[in-house]
Amino acid sequence: MKCPTCHRPSKWEDNPHRPFCSERCKLLDFGAWANEEFRVPAEEPAPSLEDGEQNPAPSNDDSDRLARP
Ligand SMILES: [Zn+2]
Repeated sequence: MKCPTCHRPSKWEDNPHRPFCSERCKLLDFGAWANEEFRVPAEEPAPSLEDGEQNPAPSNDDSDRLARP
Protein backbone atom coordinates (compact mmCIF):
# COMPACT_ATOMS: atom_id res chain seq x y z
CA MET A 1 0.00 0.00 0.00
CA LYS A 2 1.36 3.41 -0.99
CA CYS A 3 0.80 6.57 0.98
CA PRO A 4 -1.55 8.81 -1.09
CA THR A 5 0.27 11.94 0.03
CA CYS A 6 3.98 11.19 -0.33
CA HIS A 7 3.64 8.02 -2.50
CA ARG A 8 6.10 6.14 -0.35
CA PRO A 9 5.33 2.63 0.86
CA SER A 10 3.28 2.89 4.04
CA LYS A 11 3.01 0.31 6.76
CA TRP A 12 -0.40 -1.33 6.89
CA GLU A 13 -0.16 -3.32 10.09
CA ASP A 14 -0.25 -1.45 13.39
CA ASN A 15 -0.75 1.82 11.49
CA PRO A 16 -3.62 3.97 12.81
CA HIS A 17 -3.20 6.46 9.96
CA ARG A 18 -3.50 4.05 7.04
CA PRO A 19 -3.62 4.31 4.11
CA PHE A 20 -1.29 7.18 4.98
CA CYS A 21 2.21 6.47 6.29
CA SER A 22 1.93 8.94 9.15
CA GLU A 23 -0.38 11.41 10.83
CA ARG A 24 1.43 14.25 9.08
CA CYS A 25 0.59 12.87 5.62
CA LYS A 26 -3.03 12.32 6.68
CA LEU A 27 -3.39 15.94 7.77
CA LEU A 28 -1.65 17.18 4.61
CA ASP A 29 -4.15 15.26 2.45
CA PHE A 30 -7.16 16.66 4.32
CA GLY A 31 -5.72 20.16 4.00
CA ALA A 32 -5.21 19.67 0.26
CA TRP A 33 -8.83 18.88 -0.56
CA ALA A 34 -10.06 21.50 1.92
CA ASN A 35 -8.13 24.13 -0.01
CA GLU A 36 -9.62 22.93 -3.30
CA GLU A 37 -13.14 23.21 -1.87
CA PHE A 38 -12.57 26.79 -0.76
CA ARG A 39 -10.79 27.86 -3.95
CA VAL A 40 -13.55 26.94 -6.42
CA PRO A 41 -16.40 29.17 -5.14
CA ALA A 42 -14.02 32.02 -4.32
CA GLU A 43 -12.76 32.44 -7.88
CA GLU A 44 -15.96 31.97 -9.90
CA PRO A 45 -18.09 35.06 -9.07
CA ALA A 46 -15.45 37.65 -9.99
CA PRO A 47 -14.90 36.85 -13.72
CA SER A 48 -18.58 36.19 -14.52
CA LEU A 49 -19.53 39.58 -13.04
CA GLU A 50 -17.04 41.39 -15.28
CA ASP A 51 -18.32 39.55 -18.35
CA GLY A 52 -21.91 40.63 -17.66
CA GLU A 53 -20.89 44.27 -17.51
CA GLN A 54 -18.89 44.13 -20.72
CA ASN A 55 -21.57 42.51 -22.89
CA PRO A 56 -24.09 45.42 -23.21
CA ALA A 57 -21.44 47.89 -24.36
CA PRO A 58 -20.98 46.64 -27.97
CA SER A 59 -24.72 46.31 -28.65
CA ASN A 60 -25.27 49.92 -27.58
CA ASP A 61 -22.60 50.98 -30.04
CA ASP A 62 -24.39 49.10 -32.83
CA SER A 63 -27.83 50.68 -32.24
CA ASP A 64 -26.23 54.12 -32.16
CA ARG A 65 -24.77 53.53 -35.62
CA LEU A 66 -28.15 52.33 -36.94
CA ALA A 67 -29.95 55.44 -35.60
CA ARG A 68 -27.73 57.61 -37.69
CA PRO A 69 -29.06 57.84 -41.27
ZN1 LIG B 1 3.22 9.68 3.55
